[in-house]
Amino acid sequence: MIVQAGARLATGKDDADGLPQRYQLGLGSTDPILGVRLDADAWEAGLGYQRASSRSGNRIQSLKRGDDLLVHAGFRSSLGGYPVSLQALAIQRLGKSDIRLPDGSLQALPDYIPALAAVDPARFGIALATMDGQLLGSGHWQVPFSIQSVSKAFSLALVLARDGESLWRRVGREPSGNPFNSLVQLEYEKGIPRNPFINAGALILIDRLLSLTGDSLGTLRAFLRAESGNPALDVDADVAASEAAHGHRNAALAHFMASCGNLENPVERVLDHYVRQCSLTMSCADLARAGLFLANHGLGADGSRLLTRSEAKRINAIMLTCGTYDAAGDFAYRVGLPGKSGVGGGILAVLPERGILCVWSPALDAYGNSLAGVEALDRFTTRTGWSVF
Ligand code: GLN
Repeated sequence: MIVQAGARLATGKDDADGLPQRYQLGLGSTDPILGVRLDADAWEAGLGYQRASSRSGNRIQSLKRGDDLLVHAGFRSSLGGYPVSLQALAIQRLGKSDIRLPDGSLQALPDYIPALAAVDPARFGIALATMDGQLLGSGHWQVPFSIQSVSKAFSLALVLARDGESLWRRVGREPSGNPFNSLVQLEYEKGIPRNPFINAGALILIDRLLSLTGDSLGTLRAFLRAESGNPALDVDADVAASEAAHGHRNAALAHFMASCGNLENPVERVLDHYVRQCSLTMSCADLARAGLFLANHGLGADGSRLLTRSEAKRINAIMLTCGTYDAAGDFAYRVGLPGKSGVGGGILAVLPERGILCVWSPALDAYGNSLAGVEALDRFTTRTGWSVF
């Protein structure tokens, strides 16, 4: 296992600013936590503690292992001097031992998108991007995965930023209480999706962004590349083809909304952009960085304003109430953060004014949310106290 600290973004805050000592240590280039390597074999063997050394040669005091891992390194974040617990970042071993899953929980891969069912379900990654430019991660945190519906949080941001409140004439903002691909609810509600994060609602976002920009996918991809700092991120064509070949439910939703007059563009075009958007691949690190504007009242990574403060608040509110579909209540109860999940196994969670936590583990629960991902976020907020409540 490796706990790494990534490059620190230039914040303009340096020693010269007279920051307290702990800030200067923070996770700057001289921080003793940089370069820590935990001994993976010893970890797997379940030893009670492990040795670790830092690049500076200082021994980390001890790393204890129980159902969590604590780093007693005097490590403090530069976020107001809060001690940062790395236990959630260090949750490495999925399932059985480290992450105890609720009895009877369904561990499944989304076989209605065959390419996603071929992913190794035991993968697990977690990354934290903080507002002051720190990037921490553990496990498969740099491995790209299919972001699927996590993309919908970004679509909503792009549409709200361009179109403002008029969106709400075409889509609601109430929790659905139904699966994300429910057909029955859409008919009851006359082609107005309950919220922008269920599939029907996301199709409306894409339809609107197509009308506004002429290229919904291209607009989103450019945005994600810029905000994540990863200019190479792109669509996984195999995943897109796999979903397109099995996308009958989404086609049904789109056709039904078209029949109700709630689609501006041809169904095929909307579905094509939707499927390719869902097939964008990003790592936990990419997603955590890309989402920072949600934690930063709408200010992007370079300090430019992407959303008004009020729009950022609204997106966070919808993530909290609708971001994990018909499990949103349970997610709020356990995790206590705005979050957006996808059937690729990713979850992006917002720590307001602190940063973005992104987890990835492909095995899903019955609601289509990552089992180990939710568990890891639950542990993180329970142990750190970093929640919105
Ligand atoms: N592409 C997936 C679908 O349309 C996205 C669903 C999800 O991630 N919840 O079903």
